[in-house]
Amino acid sequence: MFPQLEIDARKLKANAQAITELSARFGVSVCGVTKVTCGSPEAARAMRDGGVMMIGDSRLENIARMRAAGIPGPYMLIRLPMLSQADQVVELADYSLVSELGTARALDRAAGRAGVTHKLVLMVDLGDLREGFWEDELVPAAVAVARQEHAVLAGIGVNLCCYGGVCPTTANLGCLVQLAREVEQATGITLEIVSGGNSGTIGMLLDGTLPAGINHLRIGEGIVLGRETIARRPIPDANLDACVLRAEVIEVREKPSVPIGVIGQDVFGNTPTFVDHGRQRRAICAIGHQDTVPANLTPVDPAISVLGASSDHLLLDVTAMAVQPQVGDVIEFLPGYAALLMAMTSPYVAKLWTR
Ligand SMILES: *Cc1c(COP(=O)(O)O)cnc(C)c1O
Repeated sequence: MFPQLEIDARKLKANAQAITELSARFGVSVCGVTKVTCGSPEAARAMRDGGVMMIGDSRLENIARMRAAGIPGPYMLIRLPMLSQADQVVELADYSLVSELGTARALDRAAGRAGVTHKLVLMVDLGDLREGFWEDELVPAAVAVARQEHAVLAGIGVNLCCYGGVCPTTANLGCLVQLAREVEQATGITLEIVSGGNSGTIGMLLDGTLPAGINHLRIGEGIVLGRETIARRPIPDANLDACVLRAEVIEVREKPSVPIGVIGQDVFGNTPTFVDHGRQRRAICAIGHQDTVPANLTPVDPAISVLGASSDHLLLDVTAMAVQPQVGDVIEFLPGYAALLMAMTSPYVAKLWTR
């Protein structure tokens, strides 16, 4: 069935292993983040087998599915909890990331009702401007949370490289470590977790620049695609092709490279421009914006280039291919994060797990 996304669980496991071993050299343990796989139990199992110490996901339904499949926790809810889900949060997750005192209190009450202990990691915003307390709010917030009995203070953390694209540095992660020491002094609690971000921080492991005191990272993309996410450097010993997207060719024909006629707007309301490369051999694959993010696909064969796409059609320039493709052939692509996320969530893309 095409389009088809093949995910190789052995390669995911090897990638998780490469990253957990690299992290361990710095005293850092890894939370394997499954959200880009839609909380797939296969992905979670591969990450667990590769040595991650906990599983993180942004959605409770994903955590419920992985738990039901018997994947051992602990589980971390990595999106700020919804107040309306407080009871489910403490039932399904062992840890959650929080940035609102009202939510922390609601989780405390829910954990009390359920008779469980839930662990909270307070997020601090160090400039990326997504979630987190401001620096000057963090210590008072931690002091308040430290008084809770059922949803207890387990750590602090930061998220970078997301909304603002802010890079982790010795300055901002050094600030996180400093805040951790201040929280420990103010509360008398030794923090279990000082979480220094996501796959964007792997570069600091590669360079040996991660500040001492960071002991936890939340890693999704690095495991799944094998690269850190600032300069997209490959991670040593990791596979860059654990995920392959395949689409079937439905037309092959030689055509001009510039459309014929008056150019108005394309299907998405943009006015396209074209450079004349003469006549091209072009292939159409049966995949489009309903399945993936076409611009985020890299053809495995370097002789193929992506010209564009509409909802259901992907246009390729195959002029440089030594052997011209035929209708019915299958073309392989390596997805970037956006293309992978969309392929995982699209009901039109068949998912094939290999072990
Ligand atoms: C998605 C997410 C991660 C994982 O990010 P990757 O870049 O995939 O490693 C970590 N933490 C939070 C809060 C996230 O939302």
